[in-house]
Amino acid sequence: MRDGQRGFWRNWRQAGIKGLLAGADDADFCKANMEIIIYIFIFIFGTAVGSFINAFEYRLYRSKQIIRGRSQCPHCQHLLAWYDLIPLFSFVLLWGKCRYCGREISLQYPLMELVTGMFLVLAVLLAFEFRVPGSALPTANYQLPITIYQLLFTFFVIAALEIIFIYDLKYGLIPDEVILITSVASLLYRLSTFVLPVTGYTFRVTNDLIFPLLSGLGAALFFIFLIILTKGRGMGGGDVKLVFLMGLIMGFPQIVFALYLAFLSGALISVILILLNKKEFGQTIPFGPFLVGATLIVFLC
Ligand SMILES: [Zn+2]
Repeated sequence: MRDGQRGFWRNWRQAGIKGLLAGADDADFCKANMEIIIYIFIFIFGTAVGSFINAFEYRLYRSKQIIRGRSQCPHCQHLLAWYDLIPLFSFVLLWGKCRYCGREISLQYPLMELVTGMFLVLAVLLAFEFRVPGSALPTANYQLPITIYQLLFTFFVIAALEIIFIYDLKYGLIPDEVILITSVASLLYRLSTFVLPVTGYTFRVTNDLIFPLLSGLGAALFFIFLIILTKGRGMGGGDVKLVFLMGLIMGFPQIVFALYLAFLSGALISVILILLNKKEFGQTIPFGPFLVGATLIVFLC
């Protein structure tokens, strides 16, 4: 990396939103503007990822080709033009209705785009702004390519978790394909930390394969035990695979926090749904979304 470039990125890091708020001078202000532009770009990229997630879960459930093939309206099957597929904007401009048949577009589409944009911005903010220098992102030995590598992996995990979330919520299933690909990617990422100088702010546990594997296996065994104990009510084989993946992603002791959080939030929401007469006592709700939500919180914080 050239010196000029390194200087730019260092400056970019030093004058941030924090500098702007503290009343920085003109030069700092320019850098802060630059930073905001980068965050806006990451948000737009995130909404595009969210749009892809919407198309992905729809096509995966209906066994359609995931990468090729144009998008259609789920009601009238009309092929959608590029201007119907702009994340967030198309939904707002069309007032949430299909241009061709006038039927309502599911709120899932703009919500997933918005949430993914916000998650990616949050991941980058956490990486660049709110980490304590020295403990997380070393400023003295600052390596942008490695940070980007870690961030791209973080983006991938966020996207995979979101697919599992929406899939389980809509269909009550956890897609094996997504679990498998994400597990393999997580193992490869962990292996790469043995050779690359990864500083480990996104995955705090680095250079470590045994503990994540044991965490995943331990969590999976715990869930198998629970399923036998409850005779398969509420939880299923998909959840076993999901908690194995969670162990791989987070390692120990984060997996324990995440499971605790998932059980707590799951119980809370179940009680609220029963009180609101949305669910009968004993009726099950998918547990995957709670596991995913807890994983995102523990993984990003
Ligand atoms: Zn339509």
